[in-house]
Amino acid sequence: MQANKPTSNKLLKSINQQKVLRLIFTDGPISRVELAEKTGLTQQTITNIVNRLLQDRIVLEMTPTTSSVGRKPVPLIVDGSSMYAIGIEVAVQYIRGSLMDFQNKRIFEVKREKIDREGYPLAYMIQVVDELLQHVPDQSRLQGIGCSIQGLVDSKQGIVLYSPGLGYRDFPLRDRLEEKYGLPVLLDNDVNLLALVENLNGRLAASQNNMTLKLDYGIGGAIVANNQLCSGANHVAGEFGHYKVVVGEQAVKCHCGGKGCLTTIASISSLRRSGWKLDDFRTRVLEQEPEAITRFGSMIDGIGLALSNMITMLNPEHVLVTGALVDAFRDTLIDAVKERIASSVPDTCKGVQIICLPETPNESISAAGLVMNDFFEVPLEQLSL
Ligand SMILES: [Zn+2]
Repeated sequence: MQANKPTSNKLLKSINQQKVLRLIFTDGPISRVELAEKTGLTQQTITNIVNRLLQDRIVLEMTPTTSSVGRKPVPLIVDGSSMYAIGIEVAVQYIRGSLMDFQNKRIFEVKREKIDREGYPLAYMIQVVDELLQHVPDQSRLQGIGCSIQGLVDSKQGIVLYSPGLGYRDFPLRDRLEEKYGLPVLLDNDVNLLALVENLNGRLAASQNNMTLKLDYGIGGAIVANNQLCSGANHVAGEFGHYKVVVGEQAVKCHCGGKGCLTTIASISSLRRSGWKLDDFRTRVLEQEPEAITRFGSMIDGIGLALSNMITMLNPEHVLVTGALVDAFRDTLIDAVKERIASSVPDTCKGVQIICLPETPNESISAAGLVMNDFFEVPLEQLSL
């Protein structure tokens, strides 16, 4: 017990500092007196913490508003314009990186399309980060690298569990990047990250129960129930791509080891396996070419079936549908899926709203948000130590 004490004190100190920092971030401009009131910490502790944050140039003192009645307290704010984060979107076909400041302003963006398999994705990611680093106004103020990954991720361990498109299985991406750059690195699955952003302040903010489905090179999903993201025992909850939608002789073997999965008929990778490029496929569907129409019909059937079953099971208020396939077909796809759902879910679930984003968001920006969120996070989990 005795040996643990210094660690506990140090932890408590860091928890208090994070509490103060987070409050300045969320409630700033805020004075030292208000910080003491809101945290329950003593004036002296607040003064010590604020002095440290001022010294590290993490917070700034603003000019107090003048008043005839005595001295006004000095408001404090986070110095967001001089702290930076790098966000990387690791997609199957490209790597996109954004250099952001802590006021969410983008300073620079880089995108590298995959040319061949050699060195993809790690060597490409390193190229993108290296290029962004040249644009950081002050490298000592760069707080970390966040990554949005098209694949299954254990974000606590920083491991890409499985991504057939990226060629990763149990790959320790966080450790590799931290060793290379000496900065904190954070990873999350692309759809989970999108669902978190949209639930926090986007189109899903008004709903407590919702699903996000991304129809892209592969198919990914996220489920939010009672405002909580369901990750499941092995971080694979919400994997809509492996929902069974085909049975019997038509069922094709999937890379997951199963058969008849949605991803085998409704993903861009499944189109490619049948020799279709997305752009050509889109043109041929819009020209009503019979072969393309049949294929598009089976995609819609599969998506409609998988979603109808998920809606019946989870009774969400909203379903957000996004991804390159949705961007390519927009209303043609959404309206057809809506029709399938309306005709097959029980009356009790018919209130569900199917929504889509104007276009699939730039996930490198959300990935940089992982760094900012981590920077201001209060390490509550460590309290149990
Ligand atoms: Zn599968």
